[in-house]
Amino acid sequence: MINRKREPTPMLERKRMIREICLATSLTIAMTAQTRSPVAPTPEMVRATVMEAHEKFKGDTSGKNADYIPYLAKVPSNLFGIAGMTTDGRTFTAGDVDYSFSIQSISKVFTLALAMEQLGPEEVFKKIGCEPTGRPFNAVMAVEDLPSRTGNPFVNAGAIATTSLIKGPAAAARWESILAFYSRVAGAKLSLIDEVYKSEAATNAHNRGIAVLLESYGRMYSDPLQATDVYTKQCSVGVTAKQLAMMGTTLANHGRNPQTGEQVIRRENVPHILAAMMMAGLYDGSGGWAWHVGLPAKSGVGGGLLAIVPGKGSIVGFAPPLDKAGNSVKAQRAIEYICDKLGLDLFSPRSVGLN
Ligand code: GLU
Repeated sequence: MINRKREPTPMLERKRMIREICLATSLTIAMTAQTRSPVAPTPEMVRATVMEAHEKFKGDTSGKNADYIPYLAKVPSNLFGIAGMTTDGRTFTAGDVDYSFSIQSISKVFTLALAMEQLGPEEVFKKIGCEPTGRPFNAVMAVEDLPSRTGNPFVNAGAIATTSLIKGPAAAARWESILAFYSRVAGAKLSLIDEVYKSEAATNAHNRGIAVLLESYGRMYSDPLQATDVYTKQCSVGVTAKQLAMMGTTLANHGRNPQTGEQVIRRENVPHILAAMMMAGLYDGSGGWAWHVGLPAKSGVGGGLLAIVPGKGSIVGFAPPLDKAGNSVKAQRAIEYICDKLGLDLFSPRSVGLN
């Protein structure tokens, strides 16, 4: 029997070492390539673009504050902030990013997320649906016309029904678990802006009407008036543009808060949430937004707009004056400008993500 195993000679040893060095180098290159793309915009470019967008649109006076909630009419119209955050925790800000405004409809995203945590996505899909209504966000006619009645989680009917799904022996427990969940998504203790809540609760007869109508169709899952009250509270939660960017980045980061490291939203639920945002995040402006910007987003009548760059980060615009569809004018323009300049449209061959 011939022993083919050779003793390592200096030559063989050198070859082995060279192989190991090559392997280590290519691994390092591969790892670097995963986090740093040679074609994606650099942090300096992102920072400059956010500043540019703020400069370019800060003088824009088009649009009008929402006034069907009296408090919102009184918020200074010239407030304007942009906050971007990457999944590795870098922030890019300009303007009024520390002003606390009411989250309004953007809350619907996170109550949807909580409902899915509790019931699973298919149950929520069955109970709420996810189809465009082609009607204003609070249309009673949509409840009458649509087979699902609720439409989708981002029109008021579907949103109040989603709130009614949240577990709790009573409304107070439901509200507490919603607020606690939002705070975990934000990695910060959020709270109610009491004045907004009072102003909205005194004028929300239309939403109460929608909830009772849904109940008549068997599409409310707990007491309709209590659910409307909890929904009104969730809309009155205060957030700054920076806090909202953190909430958005938790979604972009597949449900894990980039700062606390907590997996707040199940990874597998996130694509459903983003799909709903893409389809109905900007009321009747959703199609135009998908066409021009190509990112899942959600707006609120408080003037906030949150756009998600999946896997990469989020961009928030905040400016109270709204267009006819109820979306912040300046926030839309600023985010569209940033996305176009940085090539973030998910559907575009130019889409390169962020560094
Ligand atoms: N609380 C508001 C409402 O129910 C939210 C509307 C919105 O931001 O679209 O009317």
